[in-house]
Amino acid sequence: MKFDVKNPITGASIYQIEDASEAQVREAFANARRAQPTIAAMSVAQRIEAVMAINRYVLDNRESILDRIIAETGKSRFDAFTAEVFEVCDVIDHFKNVAPKVLADQKVHTPIFLMGKKSMVWHEPLGTVLVIAPWNFPFYQGMVPAILAFLAGNAVIFKPSELTPLQGLWEDLIEKTKFPKHALQVVYGGRATGAALIAEKPGKVHFTGSVRAGREIGVACAKELIPVDLELGGKDPGIVFDDVDVTRTANGIMWGAFTNAGQSCTSLERLYVQDTIYDRLVPELVRLTKQLRTSHADRHTRDPGDCDIGAITSPAQISIIEEHIDDAVARGAKVLCGGVAQRGSAHMLPTIVADCDHSMKIASEETFGPVLAVMKFTSENQAIALANDSPYGLGASVWSRDLDRAVRVARQIVTGNVSINNHMITEANPALPFGGTKHSGIGRYKGDWGLTTFCNVKSVVIDKQSETIEPHWYPFTKAKYALLTNVMLSYFAKHRDWVRFAASGLKLDSIGKKEKLP
Ligand code: NAD
Repeated sequence: MKFDVKNPITGASIYQIEDASEAQVREAFANARRAQPTIAAMSVAQRIEAVMAINRYVLDNRESILDRIIAETGKSRFDAFTAEVFEVCDVIDHFKNVAPKVLADQKVHTPIFLMGKKSMVWHEPLGTVLVIAPWNFPFYQGMVPAILAFLAGNAVIFKPSELTPLQGLWEDLIEKTKFPKHALQVVYGGRATGAALIAEKPGKVHFTGSVRAGREIGVACAKELIPVDLELGGKDPGIVFDDVDVTRTANGIMWGAFTNAGQSCTSLERLYVQDTIYDRLVPELVRLTKQLRTSHADRHTRDPGDCDIGAITSPAQISIIEEHIDDAVARGAKVLCGGVAQRGSAHMLPTIVADCDHSMKIASEETFGPVLAVMKFTSENQAIALANDSPYGLGASVWSRDLDRAVRVARQIVTGNVSINNHMITEANPALPFGGTKHSGIGRYKGDWGLTTFCNVKSVVIDKQSETIEPHWYPFTKAKYALLTNVMLSYFAKHRDWVRFAASGLKLDSIGKKEKLP
């Protein structure tokens, strides 16, 4: 199948890609498997050196990378800068510091019953890691899992979204950074290519995308028992209590709802405002939002200060966003600002819709656009119940000057990530794991998990050679059974009976030296 890669700002075609052939898919895996032993044999320091070349490449080529991202996504330059190139450098900076420690062999506690032995955890590669990315953060969502999987010693095959493949950029990056041969390969195509790549049985699949695709990929991976991370959709709630600073909170909510034109899995999509502040907060939010400048075919320059709300990248998403606004209005909701100005246009106004309820798509399904559904609440428990009344559980925010209350509420929201007096700020810290609950996905990446998720975490016990037979080995005898019972009762009692424990242990030890099967 062929895919037309379009510039969402102008609607013009840029180039075409097509699904990788069977031979290309097979070749990518053959290359990866050949490269795997070399990557695994590199020290973590050597892998970090290779990743630091990516860091230099991003710093040196940031503006041209942004041009490519913007051409295929329609993002505002500021959004692309902060969430794509800046964040990739931030992630590299964090993991260059922590990877040596996280990936090092770890000595762990050995219980007294295994005295004389040493227990270790070794972090080994899984083999080829397949990264499948969506279109909303095409650079970041490809680079970050690829870098972490490589640091853990895996060869990476990356399939970008067919809407935003950034073809040419990856090849340039791999060539200019002199990245280890076949340690990072890019295979282009759509769903069929994604499915064909999974059929080659990678050591792990890291998927970011929709719930629909996540289910299909989960099923495909289950059939071959391939480990899989599923980073899926969201419908983030924000809860605002009446003791907040109205100006700061309105600004924070506005950014949380409209950054990346709302095309973020952790966009703030549902806002619950306490009734006692509703009439001050919501008008301020609307007043500020009216000042945001939406992209336009004529206005989208290279100037980072000329556009706040970029274009909608996927034409299919435009109809979903419009459908959600229409459905809300038909069910009695009120558009306070924005709305559908021009049907089918990728340039959407930031939209705030009030008087929503959970029967409306706008408040229950992922909208993935610059749209915020606003609702009122009266009590803390009601706010928590409303926030949790969703099939999703990816991000959330709680806004209150009373931090005890904010923490209490945050703990009760069923979600993978929660920010207090901010929104999606957890994602700005690479030391924090990222992932969802409920339909938002399975697995975590970033934080120390970001490396171990791409490892075979191998458990090792190193014992010595001697003539002693372990008490739990054959021969099974009544005497050993009685002594083991004594060990258990003396050691696990509320108050340990060390004398009885030691006496039984020593007897068991001496039996082990003498009693063997003939
Ligand atoms: P999508 O699921 O349509 O596609 C994502 C990727 O998966 C693409 O590369 C696509 O070609 C591939 N794909 C689709 N079906 C496949 C299949 N059956 N087998 C193999 N590959 C398949 O998603 P999208 O529309 O590109 O992205 C938007 C979605 O991504 C939103 O729902 C958003 O919430 C989610 N998202 C989640 C996160 C997160 O970290 N949780 C981050 C960004 C986006």
